[in-house]
Amino acid sequence: MSKDPINRNKLSPRFWEKKPLSKLNEQEWEALCDGCGKCCLNKLEDADTGQVFLTRVACRMLDDETCRCTQYPIRHQFVPECIVLKPDNLDSHAYWMPQTCAYRLLWEGKPLYDWHPLVSGRAESVHEAGVSVYQMTVSEFETPEDDWEDHIIEEPL
Ligand code: SF4
Ligand code: SF4
Repeated sequence: MSKDPINRNKLSPRFWEKKPLSKLNEQEWEALCDGCGKCCLNKLEDADTGQVFLTRVACRMLDDETCRCTQYPIRHQFVPECIVLKPDNLDSHAYWMPQTCAYRLLWEGKPLYDWHPLVSGRAESVHEAGVSVYQMTVSEFETPEDDWEDHIIEEPL
């Protein structure tokens, strides 16, 4: 497992409990990401009920060893539809975000889990807790969309 690719240095202690999401600076906002990679799994949405189903079919840019996007700064050249999550669009995306996603948790007024790297102080703790996509995905390239239903999973919690 690689070291934490997210800059969590010199942040104010437990800043996420002291400021609303809309007041976070860029480093604080990015540091909220726990590195689980679950938002990079493809989902299926029932057109009638709106229910969202998670699959193990990963976006082509995801590396499930690091659980990170391999092309994050230039990802929109390859995946134009990749969401840029911000405080002002969280309302419309929170419903499909993973249940353990820090952005969703804080949006719901819930605390971060002890395994969150900001709490544990270690990037690996999200993988050790078994809540990341570490070594559990199949490739979007090798899995035709018609077969995605066969890869529906429960979110690792
Ligand atoms: S689900 Fe949330 S916490 Fe996990 S990688 Fe995506 S944005 Fe980060
Ligand atoms: S482009 Fe990168 S950040 Fe966007 S869904 Fe794919 S792996 Fe995730």
